[in-house]
Amino acid sequence: MALSRAECVALDAADPLSRFRDEFVLPDGTIYLVGNSLGAPPRAAAAAVARAVEQEWGGRLVGAWNASGWFDLPLTTGDRIAPLIGAGPGQVAVGDSTSIAIVKTVSAALGLRPGRRVIVSNPADFPTDRYVVEGLAGALGGYEIRDVSGPDALPDALSGEVACVLLSEVDYRTGARHDTEAITALVQESGALMIWDLCHSVGAYQVDVSAADFAVGCTYKYLNGGPGAPAFVYVNPRHQDEARHLLTGWHGHAAPFAFEPGFRPADGIRRFTVSTPPVMSFAPLNASLDIWEHVDLAAVRAKSVALTSLFIELVEEFCAPYGLWLVSPRDPERRGSQVSFGHPDGYPVMRALIDRGVHGDFRAPDVLRFGFAPLYIRFADVHDAAVLLAEVLKKEHWRDDRYGRRLAVT
Ligand SMILES: *Cc1c(COP(=O)(O)O)cnc(C)c1O
Repeated sequence: MALSRAECVALDAADPLSRFRDEFVLPDGTIYLVGNSLGAPPRAAAAAVARAVEQEWGGRLVGAWNASGWFDLPLTTGDRIAPLIGAGPGQVAVGDSTSIAIVKTVSAALGLRPGRRVIVSNPADFPTDRYVVEGLAGALGGYEIRDVSGPDALPDALSGEVACVLLSEVDYRTGARHDTEAITALVQESGALMIWDLCHSVGAYQVDVSAADFAVGCTYKYLNGGPGAPAFVYVNPRHQDEARHLLTGWHGHAAPFAFEPGFRPADGIRRFTVSTPPVMSFAPLNASLDIWEHVDLAAVRAKSVALTSLFIELVEEFCAPYGLWLVSPRDPERRGSQVSFGHPDGYPVMRALIDRGVHGDFRAPDVLRFGFAPLYIRFADVHDAAVLLAEVLKKEHWRDDRYGRRLAVT
């Protein structure tokens, strides 16, 4: 028998992370299991944006580029993300989107491995990663993309022609978490460079990129930076002096305000910035990082494992006869902070569930996805979500016509 609701409430009372829930804005009556897609807003985000508009922009106008530290935001914010991914100062730059960060890191990796003409990627990874690699290979010419179905297929795919491997640490659809240490070592032994996509890792547990060559990730999922918050790029210090990437914009220039006719890359991580940073989008991100500074990532991981394991147990107990199957790995060591279940009518099931206050999302063709952000999800929420999911299935609420029509964003 899984835990009762009263036992879940007791777990919440004893939870060392429970005090963080109040730091976030969450509408009443909503169980928000989509923090892996768009994190909830920090309560301090609105004031941070107002400060940036009224005091910095309004008070200092263009002088804020110097006086308010706007010009350095990509690097100062990068230094705040670094501890969350096991990186040091001067190794992370923030700006642009994850897709753009992939252009930068893959093109830099190809430049560091001249003569090697193969990029390894997993077509089941988040589509933009793959689309960008296709675009790059096509534009550069002479490159081949080699598919792997997952890390297990890597040994057969690695050869002397492989320049770099791009993989997600956590699979966005299944929540499966890969062994980055072993995979990075394997890739590097073959002479190739390893690029990790950390979109579904950062903020879910302590990441360690120190062995990787490059990494990218977004800040609007578990990091709560807000919709469209800028992404980050990590470059291992051993590559920083040599690495050159495709997007040679003026902010990556050694002397942006010398307005020289030709491009010269800045030293260090700054060359991985491209152009004018979206200053207003840094405000909520930094408000969120003010919270993350005080978070014990070991406690985050322990709670994440407990929440996801409990959800699996409860759903399997309450929903057993209704056609759900577990898509995520059962072993918590092999899971990120999300649980995915399959159902042949997954889309209307999720829509009916959302109508009853439990927000998850749907990924084609048949996956119901539930993300557990340990800073604001409670054990009681997990219990309530499982009960409501069972009700939607048992009473077949999802058969209602209005749940069948696809919305633009699922
Ligand atoms: C969310 C996500 C992205 C998002 O890319 P953007 O360019 O920031 O829109 C990319 N890759 C993965 C694995 C993701 O989960």
